Amino acid sequence: MNIILLGPPGAGKGTQASRLEETRGMVQLSTGDMLRAAVKAGTPVGLKAKAVMDAGELVSDEIVSGIIGDRLDELGAGTGVIFDGYPRTAPQAESLDAILTERGRSLDHVIELAVDEDALVERITGRFTCATCGEGYHDSFKQPKISGVCDKCGGTEFKRRPDDNEETVRTRMAEYRAKTAPILPIYEARGIVSRVDGMADMNDVAQAITAILDGR
Ligand code: ADP
Ligand code: ADP
Ligand code: ZN
Repeated sequence: MNIILLGPPGAGKGTQASRLEETRGMVQLSTGDMLRAAVKAGTPVGLKAKAVMDAGELVSDEIVSGIIGDRLDELGAGTGVIFDGYPRTAPQAESLDAILTERGRSLDHVIELAVDEDALVERITGRFTCATCGEGYHDSFKQPKISGVCDKCGGTEFKRRPDDNEETVRTRMAEYRAKTAPILPIYEARGIVSRVDGMADMNDVAQAITAILDGR
């Protein structure tokens, strides 16, 4: 099964993708995570992407579609994939079709996480992750059970993204509205879009997604 989690920054895509990895053995392909890794490693892609990401704008379609294709090739044919943060533009949606077809895959579901824009700034500015395993947390909505210790791996170092500030979030929301939301009709026409209330509690969102994937 191959699915897309679609929603604005802070909608909960990463949170839900990581749960699906645990519960279903699917693999999350996050272009944001891949780009951040490239920036950290100082690769040619990373060098190109850094300033664009810091500004909250979109990296070029060629770059992100290239890295998605490469990552898919590393996975077994039977491994289900969750696309998180990709596609984000109409050309990327077209590329994804080609990338999947070339590999004998197809899209089963596009799950739209619907959230109030007002809530997104609070979600993004409170977001932090474990520096060791990447588990996601939030200052108000999901603190580690033991303060300062990662629930998942016991790590004690955490980090925040340089682009998770209010100003950049506004740009990222505008990019979403202008370039990403317009790709929904492409998938609606295929009858594969389901809408989930992303304002609900994380566990309820996870349950709603599971019900969709199970065809309930
Ligand atoms: P995205 O990947 O869509 O940008 P994240 O999954 O990283 O979003 O979530 C953004 C922040 O909001 C994180 O700090 C996360 O812990 C928190 N969060 C995610 N889902 C919910 C939810 N349903 N309710 C409250 N906070 C949430
Ligand atoms: P969020 O969790 O807030 O949705 P991401 O981690 O997905 O953000 O993306 C962070 C940044 O990486 C984006 O603001 C953009 O600069 C870049 N990026 C990630 N995915 C894409 C993509 N599919 N197309 C273009 N740029 C992307
Ligand atoms: Zn951890």
